[in-house]
Amino acid sequence: MKITRLQPIILHAPVTRGGIADSTHAISHWGAPGVAIHTDTGLVGYGFSGTHAHLPTDKLIVECAVDSYGPLLIGEDPREVRALWEKLHKHSPIYWVGRAGITHLALGAIDIALWDLKAKAAGLPLWKLLGGTATKRVEAYNTDGGWLNWPLETLVSDCRRLVETDGYRAVKIKVGSPNPSTDLRRLEAVRAALGLEIRIMTDANGKLTLPDAIRLGRRLAEFDVVWFEEPTTFDDVLAHQRLAEAIETPIALGEQLYLAHQFRDFIHAGAVHYVQPDVVRLAGITEWWQVADLAHSYSLPVVPHVGDMCQVHQHLCFVHPGCALLEYIPWLRDWMRHPAQIRDGHFVAPEAPGAGMEPTEEALRTINRV
Ligand code: MG
Repeated sequence: MKITRLQPIILHAPVTRGGIADSTHAISHWGAPGVAIHTDTGLVGYGFSGTHAHLPTDKLIVECAVDSYGPLLIGEDPREVRALWEKLHKHSPIYWVGRAGITHLALGAIDIALWDLKAKAAGLPLWKLLGGTATKRVEAYNTDGGWLNWPLETLVSDCRRLVETDGYRAVKIKVGSPNPSTDLRRLEAVRAALGLEIRIMTDANGKLTLPDAIRLGRRLAEFDVVWFEEPTTFDDVLAHQRLAEAIETPIALGEQLYLAHQFRDFIHAGAVHYVQPDVVRLAGITEWWQVADLAHSYSLPVVPHVGDMCQVHQHLCFVHPGCALLEYIPWLRDWMRHPAQIRDGHFVAPEAPGAGMEPTEEALRTINRV
């Protein structure tokens, strides 16, 4: 089995109600720039990154994947994915200019497509190829009711619907409002609406200064919040370490970390409790697995962030012993041939061969309209 060609793909899927916001971003679409990797067997592997649908940057990502990494892949056997990852990452001219950022996102998309091909070649869903079981319980928590731009009434009614109608037992709401009393009022209303049994997570998306994070963080325990996600500057290990020492509520982070070594530094410093690696930010499944093993060795739960809108991560969660909980956001589901399925607040193990990111024919037809 040989790789013959890489094809660029950019999908831009609309987000809920035409626009969502957290403390640092407001977006109308979720971007999925990626590649289709064609082989001489006719099998095609698909892999994508996850972005805020900024077309000029998405083009850079797919150009890097196809034009920079592509020539290094032609003629290779995609099933040798870990060896290819080493070749593309550390033994290529691209490493000289980018060990994070666009080059890393491009490598992540390629790595996912290679694992997709390996699973398709075996005729298995990725979780089965990797040794998982469909009997494992992988709970879903939902972030799509908790956006910062939802008015209080919408926030409460959406969270209620997610629990009472859709069957979720855990929801995440955004914090980091200009006035922290707004966050506390929203949190109080959601806790009152959902009762004490439902788990609530909070996410500041890196917005707060350390003193503001300490001040807000100390109040979160009043509402029995499961975790305080990305409270302050994404890369600042020391600030998160000091925050962890100052507040009771555990800290979650990882969606903005590009490298396994960054996770090592946060974990070793005691600056994170819930570890949130993302296959689209790390360089794909290969590097994700290193981080998940590392976190597990420290007895820290692995709760992936879903830049892939959970299509790939669900497979990994059915395998990795550190994973019992996974974020769910629905934005790509209409664009995927086999969208993730949730039943009674839990993921249903996918049956189709591959890694789960194959777009529909209609999605592929929209590429030229982006
Ligand atoms: Mg987050």
